[in-house]
Amino acid sequence: METTDVLVIGAGPAGCIAASMLKQQGYNIKMVEKEKFPRFVIGESLLPRVMDHLEEAGYLEDIKAAGFQEKFGAKFLRGDEVCDFNFSDQFSNGWTWTWQVPRGKFDQILSNGAKKMGIDLEFETAVEHIEFNGTDSVTTVVDADGNKKEIAAKFIVDASGYGRVIPRMFNLDEPSNLGKRKTHFTHFRDLKRPGGIDGNRITVVVHQTRVWIWIIPFSDGITSVGFVGDPEFFADMPEDPIERMKHIIASDPNTAERFADAEMMFEPRTIEGYSISTKQLYGEGYVLVGNATEFLDPVFSSGVTFAMESGNKAGKLVGKFLAGESVDWETEYTAYMMQGINTFRTYVSTWYTGELHEIFFSANQDAEIKKQICSVLAGYVWDLENPFVKKHEQAVKSLYKVIELNKA
Ligand code: FAD
Repeated sequence: METTDVLVIGAGPAGCIAASMLKQQGYNIKMVEKEKFPRFVIGESLLPRVMDHLEEAGYLEDIKAAGFQEKFGAKFLRGDEVCDFNFSDQFSNGWTWTWQVPRGKFDQILSNGAKKMGIDLEFETAVEHIEFNGTDSVTTVVDADGNKKEIAAKFIVDASGYGRVIPRMFNLDEPSNLGKRKTHFTHFRDLKRPGGIDGNRITVVVHQTRVWIWIIPFSDGITSVGFVGDPEFFADMPEDPIERMKHIIASDPNTAERFADAEMMFEPRTIEGYSISTKQLYGEGYVLVGNATEFLDPVFSSGVTFAMESGNKAGKLVGKFLAGESVDWETEYTAYMMQGINTFRTYVSTWYTGELHEIFFSANQDAEIKKQICSVLAGYVWDLENPFVKKHEQAVKSLYKVIELNKA
């Protein structure tokens, strides 16, 4: 039987960051990944907060060398109304830029980096079964040819993303308290990309109050475009994925001009009901990180940030635990992660009620408040000096009320 200090399940951003934080503390790590990389995964727009994690975990220089599209802010559009956030104009101290990345390539660079650090990573190896005995565990994995083997570990980090290995195996899944949404997306060859900064910038278009579009340009001339909304929005649309995409594109002037005749790089995909939660973020002998915990919604590109934040935090705490120090998982992990997740939850829910649209597109924006909201959108949702983080729900709701009163 193979033995290791820590078994990491999944080599996405959460797994790679957790593995490298543990490696830095001197532990032996075994990482198993079900797929062969590069593999497709959605989640292409990063937030500046990830730069802190890429740097601390030792991946920043490799990612810099890849020449991904730099991202300095985000533009929101509603008809003719524009709301521009520039990350250099924010409240919190932190990074003022990041990248827009095709995830296949990005995740491959991370996993290559992990191997360079001496992390033992096996691709095409899926976790099938886990048997816990206290904090020790024996995990059965199966490779692409169906060969099975067992791995004994002192601790498991579950970074299996949408695979949700431990939540599914031990019945920890909880429905999200956010509405059920659906998305239809593809990549386009973007031959009509506008020149200058405007063409390269991520743009979020309000199509209807509860339907929005992402436009995420990459540095190779390809652009990711996706429609997100209530499932009813997609009812009565053509069944064929390509026809369906053309139909939706044609209904939106902001996208029609640029993408109506553009070549699709793959048949558009539909995902539904991706928001999910979990009963607990840790247990005896394991911790959940990234999408294996809770996934909110794509609208503010928070997924990879949470994946890396939780990977970083969990990696440090597992190391502390294995060193024999006491860890208060509830405070040091769950409460910490929920602080950030719940902050974004407020922004996601008020986006779908339309309250946040009124704030974003208000004609009289207060410069200081805009900086505070900008820091949330940059992923600095643990900066309790920021009133739009500390009292996120109250701050957003009160601001909305003031804007509505001023309209009356
Ligand atoms: P993943 O990146 O999913 O990696 C998990 C890995 O685990 C996978 O490689 C998988 O193959 C492996 N695995 C699964 N099961 C097993 C198993 N049994 N054994 C071994 N390995 C296994 N986030 C953003 O930050 N920006 C965005 O713009 C954005 N847009 C999104 C749009 C949509 C429509 C959706 C649904 C999500 C979006 N996200 C976005 C979220 C983003 O996709 C995820 O939050 C992010 O990929 C989570 O990273 P992770 O490392 O937790 O999981």
